[in-house]
Amino acid sequence: MPIWLHPEIRAVFFDAVGTLLFPNPSAPTIYAEVARRAGVELSSADVRTRFVEAFRKQEAFDRAAGWVTSEAREHDRWRVIVSETLAGVPDVDGCFLALYEHFSKPTAWKVDPCATEVIQRLAERGIRVGMGSNYDARLWSVLDGFPQLAPLRERTVVSATVGFRKPATEFFREVTRVAECAPNQILFVGDDLDNDYHGATAAGLTAVLLDASNRPHSVNRLNNLRELTD
Ligand SMILES: [Mg+2]
Repeated sequence: MPIWLHPEIRAVFFDAVGTLLFPNPSAPTIYAEVARRAGVELSSADVRTRFVEAFRKQEAFDRAAGWVTSEAREHDRWRVIVSETLAGVPDVDGCFLALYEHFSKPTAWKVDPCATEVIQRLAERGIRVGMGSNYDARLWSVLDGFPQLAPLRERTVVSATVGFRKPATEFFREVTRVAECAPNQILFVGDDLDNDYHGATAAGLTAVLLDASNRPHSVNRLNNLRELTD
């Protein structure tokens, strides 16, 4: 048994985006497509660079605000990210609405093909499964399209509803409440070192980082989801 699934672990919670769910096509590809429809050719590489920069600025904004969030804040975050990423594209408000809507649909996403088996194996061991996401209410309509994630639904924690986002301890306190066990009995699996791993461990949870990059880390790490239960 892998060290992170030690006998005390009674619940496993997954991050959503980048861990179980992946934009398909990628965000830069669909942003470039929306720009093209508005009459502007942008390369996916340019879009990616701008997107990463805009995203980072919003992370810094949230950090300064003490990681407080809400549906309104999430809407505003994405409106600013789209307007900065697609700066110079006409009707950027229309582009934002198209993208906001796009990512609310299951057709915009794919699920890790190992998810079904991993979730099943955890259930066989009597481990509760759930999700802890920095997304917003759109996560529910996305989940509607993926029956393989249905076992997580009852214990899904969405930051915009909690009022605090990862890595805030308040967010992980809600995960702990929903998991109905002690913090150290919960394993949190996510792809973001700060938001998932450090956030979870600071709140007393056990964590494992999903990272295929082979970057050196002094943390528990998985190359892929399947390794969680292998
Ligand atoms: Mg993630």
